[in-house]
Amino acid sequence: MEALTDHRQKPEIPAAVFPKALLMLWLCRLRSFNALHLVGRRGAGRRFLRHAMPSADQMAANSELLDLSEMRAILGRMYKRLVRNKVLLPLRGHRLAVVDGHEINCSYDRCCPQCQQRELTVNGQKRIQYYHRAVVFQLVGPGFRFLLDFELLLPHDDEGSAALRLIQRVLTTYPRCFDILLGDGLYPQARLFKLLRRHGKHALVVLKDERRDVLKDARGLFGPKPHRTFRVGPTAYQCWDVEDLDSWDSFSEKVRVVRSLETTTVTQRKNRRKVQRQQTSEWVWVTTLPAAEVPTASVVLFGHERWRIENEGFNELCNHWHANHYFHHHPTSITALWLMLFIAHALFYCFLRNLKPCRRQGLPVYIWALLILAEFMAPLMSSA
Ligand SMILES: [Zn+2]
Repeated sequence: MEALTDHRQKPEIPAAVFPKALLMLWLCRLRSFNALHLVGRRGAGRRFLRHAMPSADQMAANSELLDLSEMRAILGRMYKRLVRNKVLLPLRGHRLAVVDGHEINCSYDRCCPQCQQRELTVNGQKRIQYYHRAVVFQLVGPGFRFLLDFELLLPHDDEGSAALRLIQRVLTTYPRCFDILLGDGLYPQARLFKLLRRHGKHALVVLKDERRDVLKDARGLFGPKPHRTFRVGPTAYQCWDVEDLDSWDSFSEKVRVVRSLETTTVTQRKNRRKVQRQQTSEWVWVTTLPAAEVPTASVVLFGHERWRIENEGFNELCNHWHANHYFHHHPTSITALWLMLFIAHALFYCFLRNLKPCRRQGLPVYIWALLILAEFMAPLMSSA
């Protein structure tokens, strides 16, 4: 944090105070810069900053000037430490990464020059809605996941273009951080597959557009009998696996399509009685992974790891870390806050990992978040 560059002419407050204050904002899971100003005035907050807490206006103005490349470098150093300490491990011998898009917030009134916009009909009237959307890159390992980078969409960007910039930056900076990239139904794009193959990486993405030739061809080859069946816990898997499909015109390599029909027996309560019901879901993925290297069951397992970014990424960040609003509506500020959120998120889970198991057991994660806030708030409560 001390190394972050200060671009201001005559700084009244040392540059290192601002990123530290942002880290405190996320560790305490506060909703605004005003709340941060209150919590950081004295006690643990003041000791943590080694300086008086800047006002909400100072925080907002300075968040526009933060050096994003240096914040990304902090995340890079954390990534390397997590790998060295064997916290972030491969899954079945492969390093997995997930890329996905997320809409942060929207408004009819407030906008900035970088806002994306769309026309909506509200009560019969056409209105322009302004919003920001971003793409997030997450590394996924057994027992730990790490949010590594973030890219805000430009005003006329589509998610694929922003994802391409993000993946290109990650590949340049950390060429060995992943082998397989996972993505949802928006990512079977030739430009993404070509970029990954140029760097010797593989793609494994959801294929759900029934109009695509490669899916039509694969469905014709699947046949009625599954190629592989297996069971994991309460779920029975019937899988079809077809290789060497060349019907993707814009991508010259042959691809593989895997279909998984998954049946899970769930117990539900109906009229005070337990009733067992079967739920079936179908998944289809397209991948460049060769069958000789990665068997069908591993493709299905990896494919489902994509949900980590939905369940343990965006849902958690928005519902428990208050990331679904703008602390300050400015593109640099939004990116800086999300990058600092990734740092705080990783620190928090490393802290939980290092707790003695006897202390960790039985307490939900949010209790530890409340305890951190209480530590900062205690001096304020005692003086009230
Ligand atoms: Zn904006």
